[in-house]
Amino acid sequence: MNLYQMTLEDLEKYFESIGEKKFKALQVYEWLYQKKKTDVDEFTNLKKELREKLKEDFSFKRPEIIKREIDKDVQKFLFLLEDGEKIEAVLMEHNYGLSVCVSSQVGCNMGCAFCESGRLKKVRNLKVHEMVLQVLTIEELLEREIHSVVIMGIGEPLDNYDNVMQFIKIINHPKGLAIGARHITLSTCGIIPKIKELSHLGIQINLAISLHAPNDELRSKLMPINKAYPLKELMSTLKEYIALTHRRVTMEYILLQGVNDGESHAHELATLLRGMNAYVNLIPYNETNHLEFKKSSKERIDRFFNVLKQEKINVTIRREFGSKISAACGQLRSKEV
Ligand code: SAH
Repeated sequence: MNLYQMTLEDLEKYFESIGEKKFKALQVYEWLYQKKKTDVDEFTNLKKELREKLKEDFSFKRPEIIKREIDKDVQKFLFLLEDGEKIEAVLMEHNYGLSVCVSSQVGCNMGCAFCESGRLKKVRNLKVHEMVLQVLTIEELLEREIHSVVIMGIGEPLDNYDNVMQFIKIINHPKGLAIGARHITLSTCGIIPKIKELSHLGIQINLAISLHAPNDELRSKLMPINKAYPLKELMSTLKEYIALTHRRVTMEYILLQGVNDGESHAHELATLLRGMNAYVNLIPYNETNHLEFKKSSKERIDRFFNVLKQEKINVTIRREFGSKISAACGQLRSKEV
């Protein structure tokens, strides 16, 4: 077992199971996540035998950063995992602080037509520590606190549900990385049963839905998942989610020139979302080398935005990051594989 996959409660159980006091768990957590020590021998308030025991019982292996690209306020990291697989994480500098976009799987099986990650099928789920260490390693490297985490990198987080939930617990814990739930965003293509599960957990994270089309015909063409979980069911699940959690949901909508960015699409989207506690985040498409989709022109983006405004739908346009360094989902990894 890797030490970084343990919640505080898991560690408390571990210490009890070996006849130690459970407060030792908190001490270890402080070394790992607050003092950011990577060598157990520096955990000076644990006696030598206990340090040796930890070394015997846990692995401390970390994904290794093998490539780092920097472009002003965005940085991209390529990580090498223990089994030779590679994943990426992106760091963005906002005026409110730093945010890290983490990957949740090696590759992705959702097969969205416009997305680079899906070109490379899922190889496996990421383990808990492989997600925790994307955030922790970047924080250590920068020696600056991470303000927010978005689970929007490679992979479908709700297709790796248990590990992602454990990851969220660890980074959210006040004695762990202490990233507030409201500063954690999970983005999904819309796996309905898991959204339902999430709505009963009572956590305050932000939920973002990759919507990208206002009707089933178009959405099924762009996102095969829509055939299994069509819009009507998705919308009613989200309404239930909002009622249970009292949280607003974000609708992500990539604008693809001539595909989903017409005025009629904007009106249709407004009708779909009318009366719902949701807001639309319009995403200028990050063009990739391999796919035929084009980014909508500035005029079309503005027109789409204005229609939604007139329709009284809450809408923002996502700031563009890192098109120079291929920061779009999966682009760095796909260059390497
Ligand atoms: N599987 C999850 C999370 C990963 S994708 C999901 O579907 O939400 C994160 C977001 O990036 C999604 O909204 C996805 O549709 C979007 N995305 C994928 N490729 C993109 C590109 N080339 N440019 C802009 N956004 C992209």
